[in-house]
Amino acid sequence: MTKIVKENDLDEAAQCLKNGGTVVFPTETVYGLGADALNEKAVEKIYAAKGRPSDNPLIVHIADTDSLSKIVREISPDARKLMDAFWPGPLTMIFKKSSAVPGVVTANLDTVAVRCPSNKTAHSLIKKSGVFVAAPSANLSGSPSPTVFKHVCDDMMGRVDFIIDGGECDVGIESTVLDVSGDEFRILRPGYVTYSDILKITDKIKSDYVDIKGVDTPKCPGMKYTHYSPRAEVFVVMGNSENCKMYIDEILAKKQKRTGVLSYKNTKYENADYVIDAGFDMTHYAYVLYEALREFDEHNIDIIYAQFEDEDGVGVAVKNRIFKSAGYKIVKV
Ligand code: AMP
Ligand code: MG
Repeated sequence: MTKIVKENDLDEAAQCLKNGGTVVFPTETVYGLGADALNEKAVEKIYAAKGRPSDNPLIVHIADTDSLSKIVREISPDARKLMDAFWPGPLTMIFKKSSAVPGVVTANLDTVAVRCPSNKTAHSLIKKSGVFVAAPSANLSGSPSPTVFKHVCDDMMGRVDFIIDGGECDVGIESTVLDVSGDEFRILRPGYVTYSDILKITDKIKSDYVDIKGVDTPKCPGMKYTHYSPRAEVFVVMGNSENCKMYIDEILAKKQKRTGVLSYKNTKYENADYVIDAGFDMTHYAYVLYEALREFDEHNIDIIYAQFEDEDGVGVAVKNRIFKSAGYKIVKV
C-alpha cells in the first residue's frame, strides 16, 4: 500500500526512509525514488520498484555537506569550489567512494554520485530522515522521468511506501552529472547547470558534453533505445521553425496514425491530432518535455514529431534527452 502525503507532513515518510522503506519525493529536477543508501536491502527495493537494471548506478542525495566525507574518499579544491557555487542545486558530482557505500548503490564502481538538492521538501525530508538518500528518477525504467505529481502516481502507486505530493518540478530534466574524481573533470550527462556555468568556476573541465551517437546521424530507424521513451514513437525534426513546419506539415497531410507534434516557438500545426508547445527557449523546453511526452500518451497519440533547434547551454541537455526518447530517429531539415 502506498501512502500519499503533502509537503508539510513529512515525519512519517522520513521515519520510513530511516527504517529501510521507499519514498518518492519532489526535487527541483524531477521526482526521485529514495531509500537509505547505506542499507543494501532498502536500495534493492528501488531497483525492484523501477524495474531498473542493476548495472545503472544511483545518485546519493544529501541535505548538507557536513557528512559528505563519510561517503567519499577525497574532495579536491576545485570540486569544493563547484559545491560552493552550485549546491544546493541540480549538479551531481562523481567522487571516489568510501567503503561505507555499498556496491548496490554504485553498480560496484569505485565512485559514487552525490547531489544536494535545492527543493525545500527534498531538503527537509533528507534532513529529518538522518540518512543518505539514494534516489534515481521515480519512473518505471525506460519511461520519461516524472515531473508532476500525477505522473509519479501513474508509475509508482502500489510500488513504494510513500509518495509526497510536491506539485510540479521547476527544472523538468535530470541533474548535470559531472565526474570530478580525476584530474580532468568531465560532463557525463548534460543538464541545467551547463558547461559554461562550470567553466566560470574551474578550468579543470576541457570540453562540453558530446553526444557521440547524435553527431551527424541523420536517420537511424531500428535503433531503439528505451530511455525517456513514451509509448508513442518519437521522431526529432531538427532545424529552424520554417523548415520544420514544412517537413512536418507534409507528413501530417498524409498521416494514417494519430500524430502529435511537440512544437517550438509556437509554430502552428493545424493538421496534427494533438499539439503541445515547448515555448520559446530551451529552459522552457526542458520544463515541458517529459510532461508533454506522457500527455501525448494520455491522448492516445501513436507518433510524435518533436520540433527541435540545436542550441548551446541547456539545449545540450534537452538534445540529449530528446534524442534518446526518439531512439536517435532524427531528421535534419
Ligand atoms: P537517474 O537518477 O535515474 O537520473 O540516474 C542516475 C544517473 O547517474 C545514471 O544515469 C548514472 O549513469 C549516473 N551515475 C550514477 N553514479 C555514477 C557513477 N558512479 N559513475 C558514473 N555515473 C554515475
Ligand atoms: Mg532516470
